[in-house]
Amino acid sequence: GPPVGVLALQGNVPEHLDALRACGADPRPVRRPAELAEVAGLVLPGGESTTLSKLLVAFDLLEPLRGRLSTGMPAFGSCAGMILLAREAIDARPDQHQLGALDIVVRRNAFGRQVQSFESDLSVTGIGGGPVRAVFIRAPWVESVGRGVDVIARVPSSIGGEASGKIVAVRQGPVMATAFHPEQTGDARLHDLFLRRVREYAA
Ligand code: GLN
Repeated sequence: GPPVGVLALQGNVPEHLDALRACGADPRPVRRPAELAEVAGLVLPGGESTTLSKLLVAFDLLEPLRGRLSTGMPAFGSCAGMILLAREAIDARPDQHQLGALDIVVRRNAFGRQVQSFESDLSVTGIGGGPVRAVFIRAPWVESVGRGVDVIARVPSSIGGEASGKIVAVRQGPVMATAFHPEQTGDARLHDLFLRRVREYAA
């Protein structure tokens, strides 16, 4: 298939490379504008969004990445990657850059007020074969979505409290994002969905 990359500045890079390999892809780490220019799709891993934002600037990737996203490059963001892709992030540092590829407002460290991390089984629209085990680590949730955004997963009501029903996975055209970490569970169905999208958009 077309070449895909994992943004390799910080965070869960090896896990995403492994998950993409498990789907039969030959992914490459992306650290330089020239590497970004060669990929047909990009995973933005979890990590720490403030740090990632600074590193995007330091590595001269911020504007090239905005450019690729604005012309329809498929992308898949997890956790901090979701925060970066969002139009707006609540409780982010004021100088944190947003890529604006998803018309969503996220709340950073949203679950932190209750629990730092937890796991839950979720059903994800477009993913067959049963629920997805979702690992949340200092995760954001999605406060609101624009018209063009599909909500593909929510926190089940069985979790209880304020988190119940919160949006934790979205898709807008070629861009998708999860508040959780699909690279941590050995279940590559979301990566597979991303790769299908890359093939569709490259065709
Ligand atoms: N809390 C982190 C942030 O704000 C995200 C955590 C993660 O990616 N696991 O960027």
